[in-house]
Amino acid sequence: MPASTAQDAPPGHDIATALAAVRARIAAAAHRAGRDPADITLVAVSKFHPRESVVAALRAGQATFGENRVQEAAEKFPPLRAQWPGLRLNIIGGLQTNKALEAVRIADMIESLDRPALCDAIARAADRVGRMPQLLVQVNTGDETQKSGVAVEEADAFITAAMTRFGDAVTGLMCIPPVDQDPMPHFRTLAAMAARHGLGVISMGMSADFELAIAAGATHVRVGSAIFGPRPAHRA
Ligand SMILES: *Cc1c(COP(=O)(O)O)cnc(C)c1O
Repeated sequence: MPASTAQDAPPGHDIATALAAVRARIAAAAHRAGRDPADITLVAVSKFHPRESVVAALRAGQATFGENRVQEAAEKFPPLRAQWPGLRLNIIGGLQTNKALEAVRIADMIESLDRPALCDAIARAADRVGRMPQLLVQVNTGDETQKSGVAVEEADAFITAAMTRFGDAVTGLMCIPPVDQDPMPHFRTLAAMAARHGLGVISMGMSADFELAIAAGATHVRVGSAIFGPRPAHRA
């Protein structure tokens, strides 16, 4: 994801206020859809933002965070766990096999299982580390060549294989619709696929479209800039 502006978050950007506003929007969207807001997990995407921003969100009651770079997450999050035992870290976005060991070590959920080589790397890492995060299969619903995620045509077979191999660790699906398209058909595709496989977790929707995702059945929305402000450009 490119940084949305060339500036740091405006001074005084109030993370607690922004979080409360996002939570209110999630609750309203859930009610409109006849759903219980408690069934929707807000994943606060803190990539490129400093640890202090994460702490501000933790103080405001936020528990679950998303990062798309393992190295950055490894620097930011493990030191916070002692003080914040409820903290949950999700790795979102494309994962290189050589980062699988560290990801398995630090993450509670990896949202981007998308190819056999990564399954192998995660299985080896889990053996070595002695823990297995929850796993979501990322589906490339727009079949974009440059994007991570398993192709729609291969998704059912891949999901079945991953569920067979990893059992209960596979809890759901994740997608990132193409930026220039109506996200709704993509959300519906993902929700239908999850239902077909009996998977409960559906991770979809970002700052621009999380309310639509909730209408389509999202159980996890990944929201960054609406909480933390624009991403600092220097790490983008
Ligand atoms: C950055 C990112 C988000 C959050 O994006 P915003 O538009 O800032 O809410 C969500 N999901 C993934 C995979 C991301 O990389």
